[in-house]
Amino acid sequence: MALKKKGRYWYGDGPEDTQAEIHRYSKANKYPATRFAASACICGHRVFGLESDEETGAARRTCTACGNVHLMGDAAEYADEAEFEGHECVCGEESFELLSGVALYAESNDVRWYYLGCRCTSCSLVGVFADWKCEGGDAGVFLAAV
Ligand SMILES: [Zn+2]
Ligand SMILES: [Zn+2]
Repeated sequence: MALKKKGRYWYGDGPEDTQAEIHRYSKANKYPATRFAASACICGHRVFGLESDEETGAARRTCTACGNVHLMGDAAEYADEAEFEGHECVCGEESFELLSGVALYAESNDVRWYYLGCRCTSCSLVGVFADWKCEGGDAGVFLAAV
């Protein structure tokens, strides 16, 4: 289990590799992520299509098994103004395992920055596909909703 670099991209075997990539990316962004949560559909499936709007700060996922659409974290508050755009991997596929990471305010449990980590289920590419400054409130509540 380790991240491997091929060309410009990183590839990994599972959520721990996606977490390592969020860790690296978020440190470079000066707001290191310290808490993480993987997305699971209400049906139990863990592979999704993903859309996001970084400007507005909202993301939604669509389960590839049952089709359930879920607004991630606090996205329900912003969904009306969001212009969602789909994510496609460099390999052309659009199915991902999702791992969310958050940075917190000092001495607080409140979300300060949100990182949306993905692992392509076709080619195993891992990356932070979107991130934004996020006043998401309590990290436990926020991450329970990703
Ligand atoms: Zn589902
Ligand atoms: Zn891919």
